[in-house]
Amino acid sequence: CPFYSSAVAGVCERTLIAVKPDGVQRKLVGEIIKRFEQRGFTLVGLKLLQASEGILAEHYHDLRRKPFYPALLRYMASGPVVAMVWEGHNVVRTSRAMVGDTDSSQAKPGTIRGDFSVHISRNVIHASDSVEVAEREISLWFHSGELISWETSDQSHLYQV
Ligand code: GDP
Ligand code: MG
Repeated sequence: CPFYSSAVAGVCERTLIAVKPDGVQRKLVGEIIKRFEQRGFTLVGLKLLQASEGILAEHYHDLRRKPFYPALLRYMASGPVVAMVWEGHNVVRTSRAMVGDTDSSQAKPGTIRGDFSVHISRNVIHASDSVEVAEREISLWFHSGELISWETSDQSHLYQV
């Protein structure tokens, strides 16, 4: 946690963001990282990986009975994924707003899905949908040793500390 976390509630929050295989293939990794950096969030974990069936089955456990589930797992295993952990005030809610509607055809322009995708089956990015889910997803995708807590030099310009 940043040192000012006692002064500003909620800055300790973390979320799991993943650029899905379509986003990686379409060279959107840099653009997506840029948006989170520019918003003011701090990158605390980052890796490129080929997701195993085990991690994907766990990640999408709640959707296992949906008709699109087998295709979803094939899609998510079709190439490398960039998994990231971002930290900052209210990052779970804010990043869901930055990502936009699950259905890309409904996602507003200005959101990541609304700017870079057209169909729900290839919606470019994952973002945790609650603080509790974020904690579970972060521990699924990252070992604790892969996450770095660090003080960024812009903190007094992002928060009243
Ligand atoms: P998210 O939290 O916005 O990613 O949405 P959900 O947790 O509801 O669903 C997880 C992922 O499953 C979505 O991001 C899509 O990749 C996929 N998905 C959800 N609903 C559908 C659907 O109706 N059709 C297809 N093809 N994929 C879906
Ligand atoms: Mg979800």
